[in-house]
Amino acid sequence: MQSSLTPFRVAVIGGGPAGLMAAQTLAQGGVQVEVYDAMASVGRKFLLAGRSGMNITHDEAYADFVTRYGASAEALRPMLDAFGPQAVRDWVHGLGLETFVGTSGRVFPTDMKAAPLLRAWVHRLRESGVQFHMRHRWLGWQDDALRFKTEEGERLVHADAAILALGGASWARLGSDGAWMPLLAERGVEVAPLVPANCGFDVNWSEYFSSRHAGEPLMTVAVIARDAQGKEMRKQGQFVVTQGGIEGSLIYALSAALRDQIAVEGSTTIWLDLMPDWSEQRVADEVSRPRGARSMSTHLQSRLGIKGVKAGLLRECLSKEQFANEAQLAQAIKRLPVRLERARPIDEAISSAGGVKWSALEGTMLKAAPGVFVAGEMVDWEAPTGGYLLTGCFAGGVAAARDALAWRGR
Ligand SMILES: Cc1cc2nc3c(=O)[nH]c(=O)nc-3n(C[C@H](O)[C@H](O)[C@H](O)COP(=O)(O)OP(=O)(O)OC[C@H]3O[C@@H](n4cnc5c(N)ncnc54)[C@H](O)[C@@H]3O)c2cc1C
Repeated sequence: MQSSLTPFRVAVIGGGPAGLMAAQTLAQGGVQVEVYDAMASVGRKFLLAGRSGMNITHDEAYADFVTRYGASAEALRPMLDAFGPQAVRDWVHGLGLETFVGTSGRVFPTDMKAAPLLRAWVHRLRESGVQFHMRHRWLGWQDDALRFKTEEGERLVHADAAILALGGASWARLGSDGAWMPLLAERGVEVAPLVPANCGFDVNWSEYFSSRHAGEPLMTVAVIARDAQGKEMRKQGQFVVTQGGIEGSLIYALSAALRDQIAVEGSTTIWLDLMPDWSEQRVADEVSRPRGARSMSTHLQSRLGIKGVKAGLLRECLSKEQFANEAQLAQAIKRLPVRLERARPIDEAISSAGGVKWSALEGTMLKAAPGVFVAGEMVDWEAPTGGYLLTGCFAGGVAAARDALAWRGR
């Protein structure tokens, strides 16, 4: 089946936060917008994000906010300048929902859920004339037409411009599977391999340790790791021991550097500070206090409060001799090495890095495919959790739509 779109119509392919924000901006610009998505409904990953308390943006000083995008901060800055954290909050309020700032500075919709927001948003988009075509899997191009696989067979769509917002490659069952990578590469677009971001890591725990401690959180702990320049960085927070490794917000925050080190070195090491609020001296003094007939484990529990998973980690990572040596034990409590073997698979990650390289773009338009714009996680940037991912996707969607509107004028 062939359909012809006239006069200026834009196809937005991918109905995640980036694509829907592009559709909204285009509709406000008076353009006929058609949204296509491979799944039966839009925003599935957005809804999943809402299940664990969705942070939509972050409330820190804007100058700091922009730095969270690391190597891509300068490329994203103009987009964030145009649609940044305050614009995101205003937009939520405009949909009739409130936001609040959590203690960590993360900004949440009041009920912390995504579903009411997505419902109100899609309703508003339909009202403004945006049309949705679900179960349309984009397959690339046939000459100038966009090819889609639908339940009724293949469909060719002619649009004056297209915005691709196809997401990264985590949680493929929600729609973003990275299958667009070869389609763009064949078209001559430079792409970087998609790799896990905000992910957990595998550790070769003994059966003894993991059977006792998998699932236990470390609530007060600091991690010391090397950054991209090889300098030590230290972050305090929480993470969880899993059957075969570690995961959680503190690990995600360090994951980009750890992933890159593993890619180069085969594995990497982090160091745990199990008593982050105590000085080395205080730990050493308490460990070396006379303990009479008490075992070292009982001594650690009564003098330092070290028990459960923290005690298990010391036993796991130290030899018997090291554990019995007060000086070495005290040192390990402040700096316990843990070797990370590999990042968890991309499908489990919160987000992915890699995708369309900045060098492949003029603004948000593909140099190799004039009239085709890209937005969201499919572009080669990454950011930590904390609302930065969604804000980056919203900002990218607005930018791609504005670029398409400007391109129309050319
Ligand atoms: C568990 C979890 C929790 C998260 N929590 C947060 C959070 O609290 N805060 C935050 O900022 N971020 C969070 N994120 C990250 C955030 O959800 C993503 O970064 C964001 O959804 C990416 O938006 P996007 O529009 O670029 O892509 P996606 O949301 O992945 O949307 C891409 C869309 O494109 C469609 N698509 C893909 N390929 C095709 C094709 N060939 N043809 C047609 N359609 C296609 C997909 O079906 C999908 O609908 C979380 C992620 C996860 C997994």
